[in-house]
Amino acid sequence: MRLTILGMNGPFPAPGGATSGYLLTAGEASVALDLGSGTLARLTSLTPPEELTALLLTHWHYDHCSDVLPLIFRLEACAKKPLHIYAPADESSLVRRAVQGCGKIVLHDVQGNSEFGIRNSEFEVNGLKVQVFAARHPVPAVMYRVAHQGKVLCYTGDTNTVEGLTDYARHADLLLADGLFTEGTWTESKPHLSAALAARLAREAEAKRIVITHLNPALDPVTLLKEARAVRLDAVLAKPGDVYEV
Ligand SMILES: [Zn+2]
Ligand SMILES: [Zn+2]
Repeated sequence: MRLTILGMNGPFPAPGGATSGYLLTAGEASVALDLGSGTLARLTSLTPPEELTALLLTHWHYDHCSDVLPLIFRLEACAKKPLHIYAPADESSLVRRAVQGCGKIVLHDVQGNSEFGIRNSEFEVNGLKVQVFAARHPVPAVMYRVAHQGKVLCYTGDTNTVEGLTDYARHADLLLADGLFTEGTWTESKPHLSAALAARLAREAEAKRIVITHLNPALDPVTLLKEARAVRLDAVLAKPGDVYEV
């Protein structure tokens, strides 16, 4: 699998940046993971978005799905077949309502579970096996574990600590984890992990690589990296344009 970082900020972009969005390719499959603001242009420079195998959304917060809105116009103009979007059901989402009104999209609800961390959904897209886990976030949100030819990518989307988190990330070849907070700004009730907790998750789950993402432009990346590397020396921060072979 090949993972390209399209955008990695949250909940708003840095100057010239983009919020959450990633492109995952493997064999015949080409899947976008989230599509936050600024990511559609970057995606389009790599592949025509109407040819994606699927779009997997972790949740409907705007920093993860806002570019679905101009994507709708693109699909209506260019798509020969519908695009499959997988996302947790969230009746309050305006973007989801727009998606439901688009004839060029097939929307699949992936169910969150009230018992956090319990695996509750599994599907396959063009040779990629996708497992869905419930995240802990203020709105319905999920984490994806994607496997292809024995390799595993785990993308947490937005989450704080949640029961079953270590099992979810167990032996991942690459863990792409929300690590927004510094140790001084994180608390148990916040909507995100800290960079140090993301690194600790990688250590406890024995993930081969850890990439910390969902970086808030208002928080110092040097501090985040220092705190993460105190736990996992090989921790890195996501950067737009970076490519990882998994
Ligand atoms: Zn977010
Ligand atoms: Zn969120």
